[in-house]
Formats: sequence, C-alpha cells, structure tokens
Amino acid sequence: MHELSIAQSVVEAVEKELESQPGALLRKIGLRIGELSGVDPDSLRFSWECLTRETGFEGVALVIETRAWQRRCPPCDIVFAVSDYQTVCPQCGTRETEHAGGNELDIAYLELETP
Ligand SMILES: [Zn+2]
Repeated sequence: MHELSIAQSVVEAVEKELESQPGALLRKIGLRIGELSGVDPDSLRFSWECLTRETGFEGVALVIETRAWQRRCPPCDIVFAVSDYQTVCPQCGTRETEHAGGNELDIAYLELETP
C-alpha cells in the first residue's frame, strides 16, 4: 500500500520539524499532490488516520491540495494543464513541450499553535 508508506514519511518529516519547535502544537498539515504522483488523496487521508490514531497527531487535519499535470510550451512561453493525455500545445500545436508539474508530493505547510 503506497499511500501508507507516504503517510509514514509525512509523520517522520513532521516529527523532525516539530523537534525544532518545542512546545508547539500541530493543528494542520497541508500536502501538495500532483496528478501524476499516483497518490490517491482519499486513501492517503485514510492511511493518515489509521497511522496517527492514538498518537500525538490524532485529530490533526490533513489538507490535500491536488495539482494538475502541466506542460510548458517554450515557443509560446505558456504553461497549460494536460487533459486526456494531450501534451501538445493548445496554442501552436507543437509536441515539443516540457514537463512543468504534476508529480509533486510535498508538505506545503504546517499550521502550528504555540502556547
Ligand atoms: Zn506553443
């Protein structure tokens, strides 16, 4: 289960971050997940809930922001969202487009409360 190992690495990254902020309470975690990352937000949320049950992270909100698959057209200098696997530039029709996003799997932010 791919999502479970991702949830585990989020826990580890967040624990590490909290070490540098003693006493801070974690309220919310924002994750950025690209369409191409192959991660299912619902199963990730479920994995997170299972993993953090009865831990200090129980009840912490996991906010998942999904990012579309994007390509960039160098001649037109535009970035466009890919739909139906069409990677050609919608403006000039070239196939020579570059990857511009969609495989993100990042912690975007942590919302902490300091007593
Ligand atoms: Zn173009």
